[in-house]
Amino acid sequence: MITNIPTPADYYTSGKELLNFAWDTTANLLIDFDQADYYGYDETEISDAYWAAAKRTLTTALTIVQQAVELIIKGRIVEVSPYLLISDSPSRWPSPYEGGAIDFELFRTIDAQDLIRVHDTFSDTAFDANFVEKFHNLRAVRNVVTHSAGKNVSVRVAEVIDSALYMHKALFPGESWFKIRREFLRRAPSSQLGAEEFATNTTCWEASIVVKLLPPAKVEAYLGIDKKQRLYLCPECLYDANTDGGFEHKLAVLRPKGPDSINLYCPVCDQTHSVVRKDCTKADCPGNVIGEEYDQCLTCSSWQDEEDEGES
Ligand SMILES: [Zn+2]
Ligand SMILES: [Zn+2]
Repeated sequence: MITNIPTPADYYTSGKELLNFAWDTTANLLIDFDQADYYGYDETEISDAYWAAAKRTLTTALTIVQQAVELIIKGRIVEVSPYLLISDSPSRWPSPYEGGAIDFELFRTIDAQDLIRVHDTFSDTAFDANFVEKFHNLRAVRNVVTHSAGKNVSVRVAEVIDSALYMHKALFPGESWFKIRREFLRRAPSSQLGAEEFATNTTCWEASIVVKLLPPAKVEAYLGIDKKQRLYLCPECLYDANTDGGFEHKLAVLRPKGPDSINLYCPVCDQTHSVVRKDCTKADCPGNVIGEEYDQCLTCSSWQDEEDEGES
């Protein structure tokens, strides 16, 4: 008998934790860099030196993305049967004759290089060629980084972000990464110190940087928004965020786009919110998309209390 048999969820949870770890280190670099201007530095002048200093962090993050993907693929294999993960011939398995059950962890499991093949052999649907190619590319980078110190490997920050988002979308097509990311931030150790209040701010900030960093087709694929379309504040995120220092992250798009459209999709909430189409009451604001529930303009964020205007 075997105990401690892993479930797909065990692997999915661990895989996403690693993905979040890689994301967190990479996103922190991007957020710090995004504040260069605020601290009085010219982004273009410091860019090369900044990213050169980040080289080790970026290559490590990429290897962690790869580890995350391997765990998630193991989860997919476990959906078919956990025993498919066992390698070696039966004569080399832990002995069943020494009394008691055998812990699953005592078995040697298959090598990472065989994961795709095992998955594609037994699963109803094989991974597509593009995914397999990306998986092998990531493995190659990881091998260089871990086995030869990776002195000559350098990856661009956009590559790490792209890899993490691509892999998440390929493995969990029904999920929005940014919704998952916000949940991680809400549960992060720093949330015990009050950072939970900023989970929406941070997530929306990261998403805004990604929208600037990646080309339109990738933004569309990973966030479900057309970056060439006009972007609005999300009413829920605006309500949830700490707005003491302002909140300007516009990530939501009208679905479908058009002057009569009353549905706004937000990739952080991963849902559509109802909006009202009427002109903003603030002078000079051209906005005409107003949150239904909280009556805030989603272009300039001002409240729509016409009656009180000018009286305070
Ligand atoms: Zn939102
Ligand atoms: Zn307005």
